[in-house]
Amino acid sequence: MPVLNGKELRIVGFLCNWCSYGGADTAGVARATQPTDLRIIRVPCSGRIDPLFIVKALLNGADGVLVSGCHPRDCHYAAGNFYARRRLEVLKQFLPVLGIDERRFEYTWVSASEGQRWQQVVTVFTDRIHKLGPAPKLEDPEPLLKIADMALTSLRSLGTGQNAALVELKEAIKAKLPELDCVLGWQQGYDEAHTVPLFMKTPKDVDKLVWGPFNVNNPAVYLPSFKGKKVGIVVKGCDSRSVVELLQENLIRREDVTIFALPCEGTLDMARVNQDMGRYTKIDSVSYDEAGVTITADGKAHRFCMTEYAQGKCYGCTTPSAVLSDTLLGQPVKVDGAAGTPPELALLDSMTLDERLAFWRGQMDRCLRCYACRNACPMCVCRDYCVSDSRDPHWMTQEDTAKEKLFFQTIHAMHLAGRCTGCGECQRACPVGIPILALRQQIARAVAQLFDGYQPGLNPDDVPPLLGYEVVEKNIHERDWK
Ligand code: SF4
Ligand code: SF4
Ligand code: SF4
Repeated sequence: MPVLNGKELRIVGFLCNWCSYGGADTAGVARATQPTDLRIIRVPCSGRIDPLFIVKALLNGADGVLVSGCHPRDCHYAAGNFYARRRLEVLKQFLPVLGIDERRFEYTWVSASEGQRWQQVVTVFTDRIHKLGPAPKLEDPEPLLKIADMALTSLRSLGTGQNAALVELKEAIKAKLPELDCVLGWQQGYDEAHTVPLFMKTPKDVDKLVWGPFNVNNPAVYLPSFKGKKVGIVVKGCDSRSVVELLQENLIRREDVTIFALPCEGTLDMARVNQDMGRYTKIDSVSYDEAGVTITADGKAHRFCMTEYAQGKCYGCTTPSAVLSDTLLGQPVKVDGAAGTPPELALLDSMTLDERLAFWRGQMDRCLRCYACRNACPMCVCRDYCVSDSRDPHWMTQEDTAKEKLFFQTIHAMHLAGRCTGCGECQRACPVGIPILALRQQIARAVAQLFDGYQPGLNPDDVPPLLGYEVVEKNIHERDWK
């Protein structure tokens, strides 16, 4: 018999075997009256609960999810609940960006002797879910395709300079080349308005190196595949953060990598540039000035000011100069103030929860499930063993549904929690222009708020916060169950 009035809702409970499951049992043995909506899944430890279990349950129709483990310091495995606490708190702050009310998920601690506390927790949580009502389903809302009006506010002028320093940089690379197996950079692609990766092995290759607003790729993605070799890399500020993050995670060794850099004045959002250019057969010329570029194609000139056409990540970029380098040349680029809210995230912030759900429904309907976003990510280093392809355990089906695709995006975002440097390669690589960077940016914002402004990829000696814990967390507190 439901204790609460009305129809039962679907609430999934993940309970640790050693404490909370025992607490629920104690409440049952004591015949404590409880709501009956909760369906319990017993797990060895709260540390075993992947936050993706919770997202999967919520996307698949659960109206609420409750996680309960041993009290901090009481974990049967010593520290499982400490790790869980950080991950679950980040998840709680992530859910709203998907359009899921974070009140539908809660985590707490109940010991095996606390039958009365369990009764209270389950009653208060079930009551909360009843007040919220059945959860909206991703499939239900009319798709909302809102991409255009992103508020672009630049904290500094974005330019196209540093060409004089490029000559010096080439000399520096040539001088170091005999000690290196390869140096990564950019070269002109199939025309003057596109670049492709460059792998420099000879001085002739170095002459092909280009620098400027078309250097959109992040060459750091190739570094782990050069394991055991001596490799050089030319970086923009954002790329250098990926290098630092790879160092933090021991995926590359500092002594194997030589970093060359120029301060960056912004790169172009080529999706918007190409869209505005329309169809053309041939680029005639590209000219640069302080404010932007003019591309002439089929005799027609197209003007692209950096303040309007830079990649979203460049607005408010705080690291235009490499955070770590062996050779840094060129004119310093001045940064004023702290980073603002990135435009993709500001767009999501301006929506209600229902609008966000409808937004992702519309965007994920367009997703091709091509995984270009994953493959372009420098921090996605287990791509050959990616859980999205795994059959054991079988995390994702082959269904071509918005739900499966949003779940994949959540997998990527959660696996990059505290590791994503915001390089934007995932979004840039997307062939259909889905603004998926916002999901990563929301997690980055949550991580910064919870862990004293932590930003990934700034210091090679940092440990990503989700790989550690504090016994007493400064910004994570037990919630009240009254
Ligand atoms: S984010 Fe910063 S470093 Fe990266 S391309 Fe934009 S301006 Fe340059
Ligand atoms: S998730 Fe996207 S923004 Fe983050 S590191 Fe990977 S490619 Fe860069
Ligand atoms: S790159 Fe774009 S279309 Fe391809 S899987 Fe990622 S979000 Fe979907």
